Amino acid sequence: LRIIRKVSELDLDRSKSIGFVPTMGAFHEGHLELMREAKRENDLCVVSLFVNPTQFGPGEDYGKYPRQESTDFEMARSAGADVMFAPEVSEIYGEKTTTIRVANVTDRWEGEKRPGHFEGVATVVAILFNIVEPTRAYFGLKDFQQCAVIRRIVEDLRYGIELRFVETVREEDGLAMSSRNAYLSPEERKKAPGLYRALQNAAQELRQSTKDASTTEGILARHREELRASGFSVDYFALVDGATLEPLEYAQEGGRMIAAAHLNATRLIDNCQV
Ligand code: AMP
Repeated sequence: LRIIRKVSELDLDRSKSIGFVPTMGAFHEGHLELMREAKRENDLCVVSLFVNPTQFGPGEDYGKYPRQESTDFEMARSAGADVMFAPEVSEIYGEKTTTIRVANVTDRWEGEKRPGHFEGVATVVAILFNIVEPTRAYFGLKDFQQCAVIRRIVEDLRYGIELRFVETVREEDGLAMSSRNAYLSPEERKKAPGLYRALQNAAQELRQSTKDASTTEGILARHREELRASGFSVDYFALVDGATLEPLEYAQEGGRMIAAAHLNATRLIDNCQV
């Protein structure tokens, strides 16, 4: 595994297929699964490690986001990565006057709760795609709305990149692995799997219930309330169309349950199939 910090030093062999995994580091099994998948399907696996300042809002955790580069390096090596691109902020953003804004799929949910977040994600991914020029790029379904945003960028800006969305890797109790789980106190950690349980229970109830908007809203409202009662502060807990991210009135093909909630200072997101 080679570590590269400058775009000018990224001398990838263009005769080989390149699987690209963009990350912000603080690796866990979720990141490693993306790398293994990239390595399985391509000659080279290129990982970027870049804590992207523009996708953090004011008051978010940019400053204290976990940074553990040497541990990450060893983990990426063990997962079979070939190149770790870990640039400084100044290497990615020069004058910083161009941003990419994806319409519609960013209007709600994360886009609404974290203004500017998806502009930051879209812009850095567009830049990284142009630097790495991958054959395929790998993203985790844990960040479900982000996957929809990336899909739009690749289609609308005509990137000739194949996208792969990888199933969420979870702890044994169902909690979606996340670099931010490190913020959880032992007590919060015990409560955290409740979010995924609620999503799954809601999905199952919605599949079996009468197909109308008020029944759906009743089920969703009850789960929001139960989450609140168990200590979560809920940003959203919704049934949406998996492609457009628009709310659905009842469970149907392509539906997805999505949620974001805080346990004190830590924000968790998750989703499941309906
Ligand atoms: P991050 O470093 O949090 O920006 O994540 C880098 C990539 O890993 C993104 O595509 C995430 O969706 C993906 N990812 C994060 N957590 C998981 C997980 N638990 N399972 C699978 N992929 C994940």
